[in-house]
Amino acid sequence: MKILLILLSLLFVFAIKVQAQVPEIPNPNLPDIAMVQMTPQGPVIFYNPNICRQAGPALCSFYRKHEYGHVSLGHGYSRAMPQQKEAEADCWAAAHATEAELAAALAWFDRGGGADWHHGSGPQRAARVRACAGTAGPGRGAKDVRCVATCRSERSTCELEGRDGRAQCRRDCDSAACRADCNREATQALNDCRKEYQQCTADCD
Ligand SMILES: [Zn+2]
Repeated sequence: MKILLILLSLLFVFAIKVQAQVPEIPNPNLPDIAMVQMTPQGPVIFYNPNICRQAGPALCSFYRKHEYGHVSLGHGYSRAMPQQKEAEADCWAAAHATEAELAAALAWFDRGGGADWHHGSGPQRAARVRACAGTAGPGRGAKDVRCVATCRSERSTCELEGRDGRAQCRRDCDSAACRADCNREATQALNDCRKEYQQCTADCD
């Protein structure tokens, strides 16, 4: 786990270096996970480190990419057509996202996260991300990345159901034997999620 975290933070540092022209500033008082502000010196991306910690590095990074989308697409100072701009920024982020970022964003949007009037509903954002995923990655099979990301989001929905099953065992059973049986079924369901995921990714290309 530690090594994974170190690798993730290295990737993170690398990503910042690549896009070093835009400063990224943590602000624990920001009322949102990330936002971009156009200043006379150029764009600045702010992010809330506390919300990012809760959301996880991949989702936080997807949100920062969304802000880079606004910058790269030249959305600038004008507040005209906010819904179209948010859709374009989501698409840009999806096109430039890593698999981990896509999976995190899809899992979040599929659960209805990230919804508001400007950005649309969670499922709308998920559909947009799926349509745009991988379309800008040089040397990365666009179809493949999108396919794998869909498999992952299906797996996470499946796993959530498996975990709900366990919670139901605790609620509904009044004997240890019942709980053991019920938990066994829930564990089987979780294993099936993983098998389905493997099959799903194997079928991707
Ligand atoms: Zn935006």
